[in-house]
Amino acid sequence: MAARNKKTGVTIRKADRLGFCFGVRRAIKMLEDALAENKNISTLNPIVHNQQVVDRLSRQGINVIKNIDEAAGNTIAVSSHGLSPDVLQEIKAKKISFIDTTCVNVRSAQKAASDLAEAGFYVVIFGEAAHPEVRGLLGWAGKKAVATLDVKELDKSLLKGKVGILSQTTQSQLQFQDFVNKVISRFLNSIVELRIINTLCLETKKRQDAALSLARKSDLVIVVGGSSSANTRHLAEICSPVVETHHIETAGQIKQSWLKGKKKIGVTAGASTPDEAIEEVIQRLNNLTRT
Ligand code: SF4
Repeated sequence: MAARNKKTGVTIRKADRLGFCFGVRRAIKMLEDALAENKNISTLNPIVHNQQVVDRLSRQGINVIKNIDEAAGNTIAVSSHGLSPDVLQEIKAKKISFIDTTCVNVRSAQKAASDLAEAGFYVVIFGEAAHPEVRGLLGWAGKKAVATLDVKELDKSLLKGKVGILSQTTQSQLQFQDFVNKVISRFLNSIVELRIINTLCLETKKRQDAALSLARKSDLVIVVGGSSSANTRHLAEICSPVVETHHIETAGQIKQSWLKGKKKIGVTAGASTPDEAIEEVIQRLNNLTRT
């Protein structure tokens, strides 16, 4: 996956794993299949965290709504990040037709949250509280649950008895491990039973491992993907301590100054970044390093 310009000696290398994961491909295919059946579709929030994908679907007639009441008779598509059970229930109660593209990995995390809650555990979700997947997980975990990335935000009076920890699927393994270790060192005195469910997505992990390996062989890494995409941001966070790294959404954001003196340029991309966005970046890098 590397191309070397013999004249300039610049090598542009793609990570061994990058771009669309199976969950995102499946979600988009489900929408395209529904379009082929002439369904009018609205997605509840963006189907994936990538503006180019959202724009492409919009050109095909799929709009984004923020609330189920905006569906106006359209079929609602639930994103791969899933939904909380109360919103799903509301969709069903209002008899709105819907397409559920929730990824199987997210579904497993939802089941883990719900199982822990049913078994009487206080559920701690390692994740960004405002992220759609995490909002859904909180719904599945019920009232005795919290989501955070920072152990310091946990309330000592609630972390006692039975405590279960799981993660937003796209977090990094190292950070999840660190979080769990900190929970143990701060709260084990008051915890009777601690259950840790590994809900990290393997697809995400493969992209993170490939990004780190790429960073070690590069003197510049470009991470391509939506700024609101958690897994894309994590790729940049993993590469940054190793090598100069820039997170961009589109090829046009690459600055010539970044490339000065760089001979080994790496490119990686989040799980919601389409192939065409990656190819545009490679093409622009080729153009900017041609001479
Ligand atoms: S990143 Fe993982 S959890 Fe998220 S949609 Fe892709 S496969 Fe599913």
